[in-house]
Amino acid sequence: MNFPSRRSFLRASLAGATAIALPAALRGAAQNSSFPRPDGHHVPPWRLPVAGSAHIRMGTAALQVDFGPGKLAVPQPEIVDWVRRAAEALVTYYGTYPVPAARIYVQPAPGNGVFDGTTWGDVGGVPAFTRIQLGEQTTLAELQDDWMMTHEMVHYALPSLPDDQHWLEEGLAVYVEPIARVQAGQLDQASVWRDMMRDMPKGQPRPGEGGLDVTHTWGRTYWGGAGFCLLADVTLRRQTGNRSGLQQGLRALVGSGQSIALNRDILPTLQLCDHATGTSVLTTLYQSMREQPAPIDFDGLWRQLGVSLQGDTVQYQDAAPLAAVRRAIFTRPA
Ligand SMILES: [Zn+2]
Repeated sequence: MNFPSRRSFLRASLAGATAIALPAALRGAAQNSSFPRPDGHHVPPWRLPVAGSAHIRMGTAALQVDFGPGKLAVPQPEIVDWVRRAAEALVTYYGTYPVPAARIYVQPAPGNGVFDGTTWGDVGGVPAFTRIQLGEQTTLAELQDDWMMTHEMVHYALPSLPDDQHWLEEGLAVYVEPIARVQAGQLDQASVWRDMMRDMPKGQPRPGEGGLDVTHTWGRTYWGGAGFCLLADVTLRRQTGNRSGLQQGLRALVGSGQSIALNRDILPTLQLCDHATGTSVLTTLYQSMREQPAPIDFDGLWRQLGVSLQGDTVQYQDAAPLAAVRRAIFTRPA
């Protein structure tokens, strides 16, 4: 079976894994994304059995939360609130919900936590569909701490790109998710800088590796893509005197009706964002990082932004040349 494009998240935590080769199933046809039935046939996740449903209204967007059969320790209204919080972070960042309708299939699974979030565009009659597993013993505190639901929804806001540009789909989700949650008042900004300073180097090219379009390891795909987004955001804000950042470009993209339901190439996608910000930052940066390894000088970047780590504590240097850029990245647009 050849399912449409999907974005998945490796079970390994975002912070924990190092450079693991990305399974082919993550990058293309998703034969592994169906579930075997007792009769040996496979059923795609959007046709899995539904034991109950809830509905969330986000402006004009309609979200349907479907529950697979099974028991969950957390009451259903709390699970719906978890999905709603993620949707609110999306609306905060993008100014609108990126698709008119979405369906989230919550699948009970053994254990604790939130895992195996996977998102598809234009399947089962909805523009965006996410299948996400919840451990039966998952606690309310774990749900309140979760990032994965927001990560999956950030995928809704970018067209489906060719396999070689999967890094932008994942990198954007890794980069935007915590910023959207900070802007929505759901997450502490310092924790995001701490994670970025610790994890961004995982996306650097290793000896012998190529550019983002060439080397499809876990590190290059998730953190290499996120590094591209951070560098794009900082460069944009620098060039426009902080009038525009990546957020303004992405808002224009969503405003023009682009979403995961559409298949697009990367260049027109980046050009649309560039046009909105009156720059050529994204297309220029892409040209410099697509084939060549192009490592990023993160130490220099943190210094310029005025952010550092003292043990586990994040410190800010307000006299740094790009301190205003650092603050603007996390400021909710007026
Ligand atoms: Zn993802």
